[in-house]
Parts: sequence; structure tokens; C-alpha cells
Amino acid sequence: MKFELPQLPYALDALEPHISKTTMEYHYGKHHNAYVTNLNNLVPGTPFENADLETIVKESDGGIFNNGAQVWNHTFYFMSFSPEGGGAPNGSLAEAINKAFGSFEAFKDEFSKAAATLFGSGWAWLVKKEDGSLEIIKESNAGNPLRNGLTPILTCDVWEHAYYLDKQNLRPKYIESFWNLIDWDVAASRY
Ligand code: MN
Repeated sequence: MKFELPQLPYALDALEPHISKTTMEYHYGKHHNAYVTNLNNLVPGTPFENADLETIVKESDGGIFNNGAQVWNHTFYFMSFSPEGGGAPNGSLAEAINKAFGSFEAFKDEFSKAAATLFGSGWAWLVKKEDGSLEIIKESNAGNPLRNGLTPILTCDVWEHAYYLDKQNLRPKYIESFWNLIDWDVAASRY
């Protein structure tokens, strides 16, 4: 198996009460894992047989893209969390957020609104543009900002499988919980 499900730096119950162990068992243990398995089954015999994951995300299409980008997106998402997360960023990322959105609270509101209003399945992203400025974008399905030359800083998975076991149809409740888990040191390292 070329691609592997990454080990997480926290236990599956460590994000409670914000994200339950049951959600992690399904979202990480089954959904994320299935994208890894599917990708490994799809790439042999294709031009992506020896490609790394970032190349697959940037250049592939169809099933290889869908599964490859979902592997990348979920790894990026789960690695953004810490049981000691929450609060607000410091340093240059905090300055860039203030410059782009006015304040951290205004950024949170705008990002939460983007995540809540994304129609169907997809991902809300905070991205860095080439000039270092920040922007919030929405991507449907497996969409990934690397394809547009943008640098991902933070993402929120709004596929129903991310929240339905914990919050049922209440996506905004899940987005509120999401903020309590963000490891801003990880996000800042991506800026
Ligand atoms: Mn997901």
C-alpha cells in the first residue's frame, strides 16, 4: 500500500466533547481510511503510479482526484486539531487575519458563514495568496486550493459525515465546536 492513513497526534476520544469518539471512529477510521484504500486501488497502471499526493491533488481528475484530494484534505483537517486547541492565533498569521478581515472575531464570523452556507458537500478554506494576503474560499466535494496556486492555512469539512452523528442537521453547531479544537500553532506554521 503506497498511501497510508496517517497516525493522529491525539486519541480518538481526545476531542470530546466538541467532536465525539464515535464521529472520529467513522470520519477518520472509516471515511478517511476508505479514501486511502480507494486511492491505492486506483493509481496502479496510471500516470500517477509513482506520483506523490500533492502532485495527484494538483494534476489528476476523476476518481483519482476525488480520492487523492479527500486523503489530503482529511489529513490536513485532522492535523489542525488539538485537545488543547481554541483561542486565537499570534504573530504574523494574526496580523494577516487582522489586515484581511479587520479582527479575529470578524474572520471567525466570515469563515463560519462560508462553512454554514456552502451548499451540499465540501470544504471551507482559509488560504494565503501569492502576495501573502488571506482569503476565505469554498470548495465543493473534494476541491482543494492547491489547484489554484493557493496555500491552505485552515479548513473545515462540511460534508455531513463530519457532523451528523454528533449534531444531526445542525451544521452551525458543529462549526461552533470546530473553533474549540484549532491548534493555531499548526495553522501559523502553514502561513
Ligand atoms: Mn470528511
